[in-house]
Amino acid sequence: MTTTTPVLSVPTPSAAFERSTIERRDVGAHDVAFDVAFCGICHSDIHQARNEWAEGIFPMVPGHEVAGTVTAVGDEVTKFAVGDRVGVGCFVDSCRECENCEAGEEQYCLKGEVPTYNGRFYEGGDTYGGYSKHFVVHEDYTLRIPEGISLEEAAPLLCAGITTYSPLHHWGAGPGKKVAIVGMGGLGHLGVKIAVAMGAEVTVLSQSLKKEEDGRRLGAQHYHATEDKQTFKDLRGTFDLIVNTVAANLPVDKYLSLLRLDGAMVNVGIPSDADSFHAFSLAGMRRSLAGSKIGGIRETQEMLDFCAEHGIGAEVEVLAPEPAVIDEAYERVVASDVRYRFVIDMAALED
Ligand code: NAP
Ligand code: ZN
Ligand code: ZN
Repeated sequence: MTTTTPVLSVPTPSAAFERSTIERRDVGAHDVAFDVAFCGICHSDIHQARNEWAEGIFPMVPGHEVAGTVTAVGDEVTKFAVGDRVGVGCFVDSCRECENCEAGEEQYCLKGEVPTYNGRFYEGGDTYGGYSKHFVVHEDYTLRIPEGISLEEAAPLLCAGITTYSPLHHWGAGPGKKVAIVGMGGLGHLGVKIAVAMGAEVTVLSQSLKKEEDGRRLGAQHYHATEDKQTFKDLRGTFDLIVNTVAANLPVDKYLSLLRLDGAMVNVGIPSDADSFHAFSLAGMRRSLAGSKIGGIRETQEMLDFCAEHGIGAEVEVLAPEPAVIDEAYERVVASDVRYRFVIDMAALED
C-alpha cells in the first residue's frame, strides 16, 4: 500500500525542476511518518541531478537534509512519537549486519547503504528525497532534532553538518590544533562553526576575501584568499588538519604543502574528475591525504546534540517550493553565490 505525496522532481538529467507526485509506502510497524518542513539544497543534489558523478535514477527527487514533524508512527516504534521534531540525512537503510554497520558507521555499509534518493531499497523500489511534502522512514534511520535549533537551521546539519563534524572529530580538532577549512560554502561555513566550538584555531581558505567578515563572525581567527599566491607562501607547514569542502578540483600539492609534520588533508568535496598529486608532497612531512563521507546515525545524533549545546545552526536563505526558484538556486550554488545554505520551505508545497 502506498500514499501519494507532492514533490519537486527532475524528470531527466539536467532538466528543469517540475512539480509532480510520487508514491511512498504506508507507515510500517517500525516506520515514522513526518511532514517535511524544510529541506536543504546540498551541492551533492546538483551533482546527482546533473549526472556529474554517475548515471542517476530518474525521475529524481533530490534532498537529503530533511527536517520536519512526526505525524504518525508504526505500532512497534519506540523512539519517536507524534509531534516530535525529526530529521533524515543521506541514507534511509543499511544492512545492519556488516562490521561497519555494527560499529555504527552505516555510511560505509559493506552491502551499500540505501541512499535517501537516487537509490533503490533492498526490497525493491526507487528512493525519493526530501524535496517532498511527506516522508516515511524506519525509526532507526531517523534523527531527533533537539530543542533550541529551528527546523530550517537544523536541516542542513543532516548532511553539511555531519560531513564536517565527522572528520573534525575523527582527526582530533580541538584546543592546540590548527585547522583550515577550504571553501566557505554550505559545508564550509558549518565546518568553521563546529571546529571553533571544538576549540581549534580555525583558518578559512576561500577563493577571495569577499566572505571574510562572515568567516570572522562565525569564529574563524584567520581568513586567507587562495587566489593570492602569497597565501601559500605565508601558510606553508602550518596546519594539523585541512578539511577540503570544494566541489571542484584543486591543485592538491599546493594544499598539502600547508600541512605540518603528520598533518592530514581530508577531502569531503567530491568533484566529478580525478585529482592528482605528487608522492613527495606526502612523504616529505609524513602527511596524509584522506577522505570522509557523512557520518553514522549515532554520530549524526551526537553532532545534532553538540550543535544544540553550542548554539550552532546553518545560516540559511529560505526558498519557496517553486520549480523555477529551485532551478535558479542551483545556478547560484554553482556560482558560490549563497550565504550559506538554501533550504526549501516544503510545508508551502500545495497538496
Ligand atoms: P557549496 O555550498 O557549493 O560550497 C563549496 C565551496 O567551495 C564554495 O562556496 C566555494 O567557497 C568553494 N569553491 C567552489 N568552486 C571552487 C573552485 N573552482 N575553486 C576553489 N573553490 C571553489 O557546496 P557544498 O554543498 O558545501 O558541497 C561541497 C562539496 O562537498 C560538493 O562536492 C558535495 O558533493 C560534497 N559533499 C560531500 C559529502 C561527503 O559525505 N563527503 C557530503 C556533502 C557534500 P569559497 O567561495 O569560499 O571559495
Ligand atoms: Zn549532502
Ligand atoms: Zn552494513
